[in-house]
Amino acid sequence: MKKHNFSAGPCILSQEVLEKASKAVVNFNNLDLSLIEISHRSADFVAVMDNATDLVLELLNLKGKGYSALFLQGGASLEFLMVPYNLMKEGGKAAYTDTGAWSSKALKEAKLLGEVDVVASSKDKNYNYIPKGYTIPTDADYFHCTSNNTIYGTQMKKFPKTDGLLVCDMSSDIFSRQLDFSQFDLIYAGAQKNMGPAGATLVVVKDEILGKTGRTIPSMLDYQIHSSKDSMFNTPPVFAVYVSMLTLEWLKEQGGISAIEKLNIAKAALLYNEIDRNPLFEGSAAEEDRSDMNVTFLLTDETKKDTFDKMWKEAGISGINGHRSVGGYRASIYNAMPIESVQVLVDLMKKL
Ligand SMILES: *Cc1c(COP(=O)(O)O)cnc(C)c1O
Repeated sequence: MKKHNFSAGPCILSQEVLEKASKAVVNFNNLDLSLIEISHRSADFVAVMDNATDLVLELLNLKGKGYSALFLQGGASLEFLMVPYNLMKEGGKAAYTDTGAWSSKALKEAKLLGEVDVVASSKDKNYNYIPKGYTIPTDADYFHCTSNNTIYGTQMKKFPKTDGLLVCDMSSDIFSRQLDFSQFDLIYAGAQKNMGPAGATLVVVKDEILGKTGRTIPSMLDYQIHSSKDSMFNTPPVFAVYVSMLTLEWLKEQGGISAIEKLNIAKAALLYNEIDRNPLFEGSAAEEDRSDMNVTFLLTDETKKDTFDKMWKEAGISGINGHRSVGGYRASIYNAMPIESVQVLVDLMKKL
């Protein structure tokens, strides 16, 4: 039987998607060729890329609103550098919130290119909350935030208004909840948390913001070049793009973001209710900032650890050990995670 996969990333994908993907690796579109042995310039693959980018804009409700969706490589981590390269003016500055390890890494790269104003940080409490009430300097070229802090289990519920551009790392909660995505000028996400396999990075960017920094940008780091070549400036990660496309199709069949959001809220509530009810557990993130994607919790009685670990392993649960910097447990309950698997975990917590 398939395990209950609570892994933080790479992570659970729909079983239906995995089966379609495995067929395409052997024989794609009845071409008697594998998806991964045909040219990325072939009509069959170009259709995959077109469909994938189209689905991204459709699901985010950004179609016809002046945005491009790009499938790039280098992970969300390369976006930490590409964002300042493309959006920070020569001699300009950017504002960042520091809400976890990924934010810290992002602002470190931005510092290579100019001034970085860290307007708020939750480092004082090991990133267990989302800072609020900060001011973004009016002269910042852009403001960068991380919508969901995968390691700590915190999630931004609201996004600030800014005079400059609004940029968001949505690696671990993109396509999970309804937002007005048009409030963002640039969104990026590594595919492997809610969209597909590792190897592709999604960038959704408002076309009009590009080409305005006065910088000379190396070709591979230049969004305008990738955009003008429809993400085919060089060979794209064909398998990762294809599986992302299948996942986006699957999401659309589920009813899109509004339908999956309802399910995500129900899954998170099921687990948080048990954490709050059961004296043997406590949540590690501030209650108002709790993530609906990564649920972090600790045992209140460490002597129960061996028993609990044995119980969940025997129940076929996988991937719920907490990140080493937080400890305890982290149940990642991304879009493809069925509520039945969350129920299996909750039943064990009740039995402990
Ligand atoms: C995983 C993660 C990253 C890093 O993604 P890579 O694709 O491994 O570079 C960045 N930001 C967030 C929020 C993440 O969860």
